[in-house]
Amino acid sequence: MRSDCMEFLPQMERIDSNIMDEVLKARDDYKCENFEISDIKATLSKDRISLIDLKILLCDNALVVLEDIARKARELTRANFGNSINFFTPLYISNYCDNACVYCGFGCSNKIKRVHLNSTSIEKELIAIKKTGLNEILLLTGESQTYSTPSYIANAAKLAKKYFSTIGAEVYPMDTKDYKLLHENGVDFVTIFNETYSIKKYQKVHISGNKRVFPYRFNSQERALLAGMKGVGFGALLGLDDYKKDAFSTALHASLIQKKYPHAQISISVPRLRPTLTNSKINPNSVDERRLLQIICAYRIFLPFASITISTRESAKFRNAAIQIAANKISAGVSVGIGTHDETNHDKGSEQFEISDSRSVKEVYDDVLKLGLQPVFKDYEFLS
Ligand code: SF4
Repeated sequence: MRSDCMEFLPQMERIDSNIMDEVLKARDDYKCENFEISDIKATLSKDRISLIDLKILLCDNALVVLEDIARKARELTRANFGNSINFFTPLYISNYCDNACVYCGFGCSNKIKRVHLNSTSIEKELIAIKKTGLNEILLLTGESQTYSTPSYIANAAKLAKKYFSTIGAEVYPMDTKDYKLLHENGVDFVTIFNETYSIKKYQKVHISGNKRVFPYRFNSQERALLAGMKGVGFGALLGLDDYKKDAFSTALHASLIQKKYPHAQISISVPRLRPTLTNSKINPNSVDERRLLQIICAYRIFLPFASITISTRESAKFRNAAIQIAANKISAGVSVGIGTHDETNHDKGSEQFEISDSRSVKEVYDDVLKLGLQPVFKDYEFLS
């Protein structure tokens, strides 16, 4: 019999926090009703918006006045981030995974080419990426504690620190002591996607592996901050469940973390489902581009200071539009395969999902300039 996804496994660290209960209750109470256009316009006239306003911005009728919403989001983006658009790229170092998530090509039962880069290959990849001018890197692994131990990821961070000023990690949820190890080796930002905040759906799509344990995953950002990380990222996989409820829950989760840890830099991503190597039928039917833009704008208006990232899952055209309105961070020169940045790396592993925007760093850079925005490769240097 499958385990209950709300039960911690004995080895998993528990922290004292009531944020999960608050978010889950708010999600349960959220009925996704529609609102009048006058309600939406009233929300747009406010300086700071409430949770009810967030629901108003996510309702169906908000699409009718999406241009007004986008205008407000753009004002807040430019007021808080100026014209800057921060660049980064993800580096996949291993695609071994112990979990089985029905929507992902890396799932442990899928027959794909698995690769786990050694230090030499990782460094080659880092050098190849560095040559493109980038200064921020996001280390990614499939979620396998066996293949990608905390010390393996820490070693990759240590190598990355030789070339990059900012290092993030998007790896499996860890205990505080393991996040500390990553932080000591150069990682300052941790992103964990909660995928969906619907317990029922979460349980259904996470068939096995540690990822099945919802509360441990939910509390990851807090454990990372307790370990000393400077910032944490959030994101629901839009289209997996009711997108309005998941967008609402993500924003609430991020805002409660921001309130409890005022020093933390908060970032939000907006991944939609993408076809994978093992499942070409997966698509985010319920979240078309207009709805995705609606969500990004709602995030911006609800959390004006949060960084919003737009990934290569989306088309170049949509990404260009998003950075003009609400997103302030963009990936470029992306490969979601393993060992593909340096052509002398022989170990090349399968890709996690299909990307839509395959522009090089230079091409994205030029397009950002053409839009009248300022590409930023490095916006600060930590002194300690
Ligand atoms: S979504 Fe993450 S945890 Fe799930 S199968 Fe893919 S890589 Fe593994």
